[in-house]
Parts: sequence; structure tokens; C-alpha cells
Amino acid sequence: LSEAQAKAPRGTFDVLGQEARARSAIEAKARSILEDAGYERIETPCFEATELFARGVGESSDIVKKEMYTFTDGSGRSLTLRPEGTAPVCRAYVQHGMHKRPQPVKLWYLSSFFRYERAQKGRYRQFWQVGAEALGSEDPALDAESILLLHHLLAELGARDLRLRLSSLGSPQARGAYREQLKQHLQSRQEELSEDVRSRIELNPLRAFDSEHPGTVAVMRDAPLLLDQLDAADAAHFQEVRSLLEAAQVPYEIDPTLVRGLDYYTRTVFEFTSEALGAQSGVGGGGRYDGLVEQLGGPRTPGIGWAAGIERILLAGSPAAPAPAALDLYVCVQEPAVRRHAFELLWQARSAGLRAEMELAGRSLSGQLKQADRHGARFAAILGDRETTLRDMQDGGQSEMAAETVVHELLRRLRTLS
Ligand code: ATP
Ligand code: MG
Repeated sequence: LSEAQAKAPRGTFDVLGQEARARSAIEAKARSILEDAGYERIETPCFEATELFARGVGESSDIVKKEMYTFTDGSGRSLTLRPEGTAPVCRAYVQHGMHKRPQPVKLWYLSSFFRYERAQKGRYRQFWQVGAEALGSEDPALDAESILLLHHLLAELGARDLRLRLSSLGSPQARGAYREQLKQHLQSRQEELSEDVRSRIELNPLRAFDSEHPGTVAVMRDAPLLLDQLDAADAAHFQEVRSLLEAAQVPYEIDPTLVRGLDYYTRTVFEFTSEALGAQSGVGGGGRYDGLVEQLGGPRTPGIGWAAGIERILLAGSPAAPAPAALDLYVCVQEPAVRRHAFELLWQARSAGLRAEMELAGRSLSGQLKQADRHGARFAAILGDRETTLRDMQDGGQSEMAAETVVHELLRRLRTLS
């Protein structure tokens, strides 16, 4: 292997040690918060038909235009490593006839996603997201619940300096007229726009709000705003979402320029950012996608959901990662001849539900006791030719006993200790 080939590919990383424990803690917290709120775990395949994302995420989105890992398999099908989770969840909803279940159907996931992006801190080519989707109801209380669940999760995980930005994109019908106005505005000041924005005036004029290009920013300052033009039903829906957030005392800012990167959003859109993150400040966001399931060939089904980046959560917060659990027992051997007995004792202890390990690296007895200490073992069993010694690693007290009684004795002592 070349030097580069001997490392994880650019934009990817290994997860180990403290980092792995912190991620497990995030997963446990997400599971408890989301499952308590009635969300059920779902996992979908790592890759899907390319068309699912082309249609579901939208041809004009950055993801589809520039960021997908697409390949042809042995039978000539075009497949894509999933860049996001909402389209696959909607695909699964349709495939499994979930519209026949009581609605809304609430699902959550924690999976890895793939985007060919410029790799940097907080931005990777394989990254993890926790996400929640609720399909089958357009009740604004579901929008509020969804936002509050993400807020609750991020707060519990210690994400610092959080800001919640909120807007509504209205329904596609209302958006049509607005798009025309916005296009006209952009066309009238074409020469001030970035190349990228200019080339997308027809396809996706709303994305111009996301640009950081100074000329474009100036043009957008005078742009008409969709939020000012919501029809009565969309405005009432948005007002109700706002009232529910206010009742829950979760602060938010209305940001009429919030458009989000995916084409499928309707009505509510939101994003949590953390000042602690610097440039890649988005921690998680989402919105309503009332047309998506139908767009993918399913029945008309409203939906709302969000996804939050695990790496950004780690950067924004200090999720308490529990230290690895200490051992109850470390099995030491005085001589190689008793290794088989040690192995038997190890498994008796594990069968009894104890956390146990045995010596596996040929250490001297004092080296083995040091290793037991490193593991934080509460007790060590030292197997000799004839006798077995149980050593309390905290006070150094030792007692001799028959090997068969060690586990029984251990259980008794651990019970009195706890
Ligand atoms: P950004 O504006 O940072 O590119 P995005 O709008 O593309 O984010 P979404 O598609 O909404 O992000 O994904 C939701 C969350 O997933 C983001 O808020 C972020 O925390 C995380 N995320 C997205 N892309 C990446 C990436 N390449 N690496 C790490 N995390 C990511
Ligand atoms: Mg992005």
C-alpha cells in the first residue's frame, strides 16, 4: 500500500476508545428520548437506487448535483450510497404499506451517510446522523413536537450556544408565484450574482439565500420574502407551530432567508446552529415534506422530520462519556499449566453475569496483578497448582478457596458490597 492507501480514505475516520464511548452515549440518549416519544427504530440499506435520491432530494440540490457517491453494480444498476435519510425512510414507508397503520407513523434512525464534500473539521465524506421522521399527519403539534425533541436531545447532550432558526416555505402552490417574483428579482441584477447562483436562477432560485458571495448577499437583501406571502392556511399552520414553541418556552428566531438544502421541504423548516462550531455551524435541522411520499410514488402523505450530525454534536457539546465499566474479576495464573482452569473459571464468572477477563499475554504474576488494576478489577483470582486465591484488589486481602467456589463467593461478596 502507498502511504495514502494505508490510511482511512480522505474525509473518513475510525471510531475508537473515548470517541466510541461518547457515540454510544449519544445513541443511548437518542434512543431513550425518541422511543419514549413513540418513535420506532428503522434502519434502511446503505445504498439505494440512484433515482430515489435524484427524485426525492431533488435534481437542483447540491447533494444530487455534486455530492453523491454513485456507482454501477455488477448488473448495471445505478446505485448511490445514501447521502441522507428522509427519502429512504419514505421509500420504506411506501414499500411496507405503513399508510395502513395508525397515523402518524414515527420512526428514528442513527446511521452513517455519504457525501462527496470538501473534507474539513465537522464536514466529512462518511458521517453519522441521528434522525426522526413522522409521517401521516399535518398537525402543527407534530411540527412542534419534532422541533422540541431535537432541542431536548441537543440540550441533554450538552450542546453549547444553541440557536434555533425557524421559517415556513408555505405550500408548493403558493411557492410557485413567489418563485417567479424571485427569479425576476435575480434576473434584474444578474451581473452582481455569483456564477453558481446565476446558473441556478431557473432551477432553484431559493438557494441564492444560502450564498455567502458578497454580491449575491447584497442582491438578496432586497429580495422579496416568501414568508410575507404565505396563504391563509399556511400562515395559520405556522402561527400554531410558533405558539406551541412559545408555550414550551423554547426560544427561536424567525429567519425568512432559511431555505435548507433539500428541495422537498414545505411549510415548516428549522435549523439548530451552535456558535461553538465556527464555520460548519449547523448541528441539525429539518422540516415538513408534505409532497415527498407522493413524489416517490406513494399515497399523498404529509411528513416532518430532522437529522442532526453526530460529529457536530460531539464538537458542540461535552456529552458525558462513561468510562468503560470496571471488571468484577481478573483471572490470573501462577503457571501456564493451569490456564485451562483459568479459562473455565472465566466462563463460569461470565455465565453468572460478572464482568471478567483473564490473562492472555503471558505476563508474570506481578504483571498480571498490574493489568487487573489497569482494568479496575474489584477482585483477582490467582490460580495455582493446587490452591486458588481470591484477592480483594482494594484492600489487598486474600483468602484461599477451592476453584469451584470462587464464583459463588464472588457473587456473595459483590452483593454485600453493593
Ligand atoms: P451544511 O449546511 O453544514 O452543509 P446541510 O444542510 O447539508 O449542512 P443536512 O443535509 O440538513 O445538512 O444534514 C443535517 C445535519 O447533518 C447537519 O446539520 C450537520 O450536522 C450534518 N451534516 C451534514 N453534512 C455533513 C458532513 N458532510 N459531515 C458531517 N456532518 C454533516
Ligand atoms: Mg451540506
